[in-house]
Amino acid sequence: MAQTDAPAHVAILPSPGMGHLIPLVELAKRLVHQHNFSITFVIPTDGSTSKAQRSVLGSLPSAIHSVFLPPVNLSDLPEDVKIETTISLTVARSLPSLRDVFRSLVDGGARVVALVVDLFGTDAFDVAREFNVSPYIFFPSTAMALSLFFYLPKLDEMVSCEYREMQEPVKIPGCLPIHGGELLDPTQDRKNDAYKWLLYHTKRYRLAEGVMVNSFMDLEKGAIKALQEVEPGKPTVYPVGPLVNMDSRAAVEGSECLKWLDDQPHGSVLFVSFGSGGTLSLDQITELALGLEMSEQRFLWVVRSPNDEVSNATFFSVDSHKDPFDFLPKGFSDRTKGRGLAVPSWAPQPQVLSHGSTGGFLTHCGWNSTLESVVNGVPLIVWPLYAEQKMNAWMLTKDIKVALRPKASENGLVGREEIANAVRGLMEGEEGKRVRNRMKDLKEAAARVLSEDGSLSEVAHRWNNQKCT
Ligand code: UDP
Repeated sequence: MAQTDAPAHVAILPSPGMGHLIPLVELAKRLVHQHNFSITFVIPTDGSTSKAQRSVLGSLPSAIHSVFLPPVNLSDLPEDVKIETTISLTVARSLPSLRDVFRSLVDGGARVVALVVDLFGTDAFDVAREFNVSPYIFFPSTAMALSLFFYLPKLDEMVSCEYREMQEPVKIPGCLPIHGGELLDPTQDRKNDAYKWLLYHTKRYRLAEGVMVNSFMDLEKGAIKALQEVEPGKPTVYPVGPLVNMDSRAAVEGSECLKWLDDQPHGSVLFVSFGSGGTLSLDQITELALGLEMSEQRFLWVVRSPNDEVSNATFFSVDSHKDPFDFLPKGFSDRTKGRGLAVPSWAPQPQVLSHGSTGGFLTHCGWNSTLESVVNGVPLIVWPLYAEQKMNAWMLTKDIKVALRPKASENGLVGREEIANAVRGLMEGEEGKRVRNRMKDLKEAAARVLSEDGSLSEVAHRWNNQKCT
């Protein structure tokens, strides 16, 4: 039996991927420190947890527990399976063990008031309901993408061709119209299972009692207002962002790149990184290296081993298997010595972005990376690779106007000159100045929102007033 005087307890189920875990950890810390909840992370896995994942979970405050569910077997999936399918099936096949965790929490006297899942975790709602626990979603991306999620079932009925073949742009409620080919990856092939899973989840979003989105009014006013329009059967949407990792302790000690940054002039360094999952082809790595060299700007580059087939090769495990430096052009390190630093696989990104020497960020536009840049006022060069990143790039360049975007040439590669121009443009040019100023305004708006904690307090209040199970 639950004890009525026990602190309210929230179960959080992150779907696989660092980009999902990181903002949920920030959410959990807020709930613990500012609202007195206790938390259990319940982690579904296919057995491939990364060092980065384990280190994030290993450094949590004592009111946050984590339980790894027994690994599910995915050996029946085809080799070309998309990540949305893998994630959805990992969650779906973990439901029996999730049920066991819920049972032991409740038997142990925990007053479980909510289950929070992210993007593709809606199958877990069924287990929450069995235990009379309220299902919530934490949406770790933009309000624009969330608005598309709510709109997708309708769009699916209205449009019969592939979205990328539509003549008219797609009018996502509250957003600048966007070409169908720029919508998130799983919408690009409607016959693929990944699209079917996406559509399935978007329909189930209406079963949630509330949806928290990692964004804020000054950043995405149109989309948030559209999401908050009351409609029967639509859950309340709470803009709880920007939730980003600002904890500097773990990474600072012994970090070579932070020491290197200490010796660079203020605002002079371009940080180059493609998130936890992003990989480039060998040819693209070569162009990027030569473009950085040609730009004659300072840079700090997180280098991964190439992958010629997919752009998200390290999504489930960020550990690079080969030495990524073997793939840099001959003589590159010597020629850029002092001005540029390459680090293998992983850098303490939040600390790099908050460092005074960092003046720009070439990013794959993952939403965590984008928000980390926003809270530090660092302007962007956008280089979308996978998931919803093309939508983010569109919004950041065309709507919010805090980014420059180099164009790919006909062979699909972004060439060295194009890269050098974008880098110089951001670090020294007039356009760079404009996007920098705009980013500064957003940084101030983000600081204001973070000091208020408005929407998350509303959610916490709702949970605290819930009857116990
Ligand atoms: N990250 C990091 N060091 C790296 C690469 C990524 O600390 O070298 C962190 C980054 O700060 C961000 C997250 O990993 O919090 C990546 O999330 P994002 O949504 O940007 O992209 P994803 O990895 O999900 O594509």
